[in-house]
Amino acid sequence: MKKRKFGSCCYCGQTLTVETFSREHVLPKSRNGSNKKVNKLPCCKKCNQDKGNKTIDEYITYLTERQPVNYEFKIMMCQRVLSLY
Ligand SMILES: [Zn+2]
Repeated sequence: MKKRKFGSCCYCGQTLTVETFSREHVLPKSRNGSNKKVNKLPCCKKCNQDKGNKTIDEYITYLTERQPVNYEFKIMMCQRVLSLY
């Protein structure tokens, strides 16, 4: 049997497993984000929790202010997500 692929986190880039996989709503549902495929990206549970119901722009501000581990990389990844839209 083929191993299921979960891809990698759209924010921190780590390879996802069945334990860490979650689906990120780029524009949160609570902010009128759609449930369509284009609004959903693979994301690790930790980043998904960190981002919460922030928009990408708000998440970049959050990362800039708090400077967590790898924040520069995460900001770059956020900008890459933004460039998809
Ligand atoms: Zn992540």
